[in-house]
Parts: sequence; structure tokens; C-alpha cells
Amino acid sequence: MSLGEFDLIARYFARPTCRAALGPGDDCAVLALRPGMQLAVSCDMLVEGRHFLPTVEPRRLGHKALAVNLSDLAACGARPLACTLAIALPRVDEAWLEGFSAGLYALAEAHGCELVGGDTTAGPLTLCITVFGELPVGAALLRSTARAGDEIWVSHAIGGGLGDARLALEAFRGQVSLPGAVFERVRLAMEQPQPRVALGLALRGLASAAIDVSDGLLGDLSHLLRRSAVGATVDVGRVPRSADLAAQSLALQRLCTLAGGDDYELVFTAPEAASAHVLEAARGAGVAVSRIGRIEAGPGLRLVDGDGRAVEPVWSSFDHFRA
Ligand code: ADP
Ligand code: MG
Repeated sequence: MSLGEFDLIARYFARPTCRAALGPGDDCAVLALRPGMQLAVSCDMLVEGRHFLPTVEPRRLGHKALAVNLSDLAACGARPLACTLAIALPRVDEAWLEGFSAGLYALAEAHGCELVGGDTTAGPLTLCITVFGELPVGAALLRSTARAGDEIWVSHAIGGGLGDARLALEAFRGQVSLPGAVFERVRLAMEQPQPRVALGLALRGLASAAIDVSDGLLGDLSHLLRRSAVGATVDVGRVPRSADLAAQSLALQRLCTLAGGDDYELVFTAPEAASAHVLEAARGAGVAVSRIGRIEAGPGLRLVDGDGRAVEPVWSSFDHFRA
């Protein structure tokens, strides 16, 4: 006989917590906040067929469901505290639950983010995680505080870049054919992104504004520009890309790096005088950062290549109701 709802929760989603004042099992979880700290809260939903392919390994899916939420905490400079998981499952598949919960807990433990509660129901596979992070009062990194003259930076893996997740998606869609080892590597970037939590923390008090890149660099940067009432020029040649992506056509490189989506990197701004500190912060966080442009007073986003020549923007930032 298959597991019932409560046995399923007890077996896969109710590991004991130690930082939370009260974890799963009661009507509410209770979080203890230290004096002088604020709670940062974010929620992201993943729906099968829309945010992930049915073929993804459950372990990677468990990782990704939490990673996309931790990326939002990172963009605000918040330290992860706890999360809740609302999950709709078409059926009880214990091998799937085993993998999914292992992937989720592995990333949660790596970031000290305790699963403190949730909701479980039957239905089309849907995952909704809410994360809670802590921040000193007033220290949150915002989208709305970039200033003219600031430099624009983007994070990336050391030796890597933006756009690998989109390259994997193009390969899944049959738009590009990749050697097996390259496909596996970019597929890992798509299925198991690494949220830049340590970098977000290190950028507190240093970056003037920040956002995470979930829907494509240009689209997400544009949100930051609009909220800050400024514009920018970005040198597309400086947007970092992996050697595997650099081996593709220029059009595909631009699509993937500029409008790719699913990167979960941080794009942030900082005064020029802070650049040495920015590099130091990135080193300490174990990631690379590249300077890709500058904030300007005039609204709009201008793209140039290495010679300063204007480049046509690739505007296919993801929008669920327009896609
Ligand atoms: P309620 O009836 O109050 O909605 P439930 O019966 O749904 O509570 O859940 C029982 C307990 O199990 C609660 O503490 C809830 O937070 C926890 N829980 C339910 N689903 C999950 C899940 N997917 N992950 C973690 N905890 C869960
Ligand atoms: Mg419930």
C-alpha cells in the first residue's frame, strides 16, 4: 500500500530542526529572530513542463527548487534561515521523493536553511518554496538604488559565464547539437544552479543595487534600471561566457548570455571607487565577477560591442503570459 500524506511528510520532509524555535509538526513553524534583524521573505513556484522538464533527476529538482529561492535571498544580501515547501504530487513515488528530498536537504544544509513546514497535496507536479532570511535592519540590497556613474557587475563561476543553462535548453529543444560531455556540463548548469548567497552577503554595504538573473540578463537588468530611474550602457563583449558557449555562433552566444534565463547569477552596481572591494568580496565568496557596463542618468539600456559600436538588443526576456 502506498504511503499516506502524513507518513509521507514524516518520512521525507520532517527532519529535526535546531535553529528554528519550532519546526514541522505543528500548525505553524516558529522562527527566532535576533535583535536588530529583519526577516527577508521570498517565494518561487516551479511547475512541471514550464520550469523544468519531466526528465530531470528528482535530486537535481530538489536542489533547484530551493536554489532559485536562495538566489532571491542572495540578491537582497540576506542570510538564509528557513524555508517551507508546498508540494503537489500526482502520485506517491518513493524513489522520486527520496531523490527530491535528498537534493533539497543537501542544499538546505549547505546554507543553514532549515525546512520548517509546508503543505502536501495530490495534483499536477508543482513545487512552491518560501524562504526566510535575516538581515540587519535597513541593510537589504535593493533594485531601486543604483546611481549614475556606478559600474555594473555580474557574477559567474570561475572560468564560466552566463548562458550555459539556455544553451542546454536549446540543446534539449534540438536547436543546437552539443558533444556529450558539453551537454552534460551545461545541463548541470540548468538543472543544478548554485545560488550566490555568500556573494550577496559580502556585497552588503558595498553594492548600490542588486537583482538576481533568473529571466535573462537584459530583462532583469532593465527591472533594476526602471526601479532606480536610471539607464545604462552594457558592453556585450564583456558579458562572461564559458568556453563551450564561446564555441557557438555569435547570435547564439548573445541570445544565451543576454536573454538566456535560469542563470541565477547576481547583477549588481557599485561606485567605481569600490571596485577593489567588489573583487575582494567575490574572491572571498569563491566566485568571479565581471564588469559589464555603467549606469547613466538617461533612461534606457544601450548595448555596444568592444569598439563602442551599437548592438541590437536581444529582447526575449521570459514572460510567462507572453511566452
Ligand atoms: P495543516 O492541517 O495545518 O495544513 P498539515 O496537516 O498540512 O497541516 O501539515 C502537518 C505538518 O506537516 C505541518 O507542520 C506542516 O508544516 C508540515 N508539512 C506538511 N507538508 C510539508 C512539506 N511538504 N514539507 C515540510 N513540512 C510539511
Ligand atoms: Mg495542510
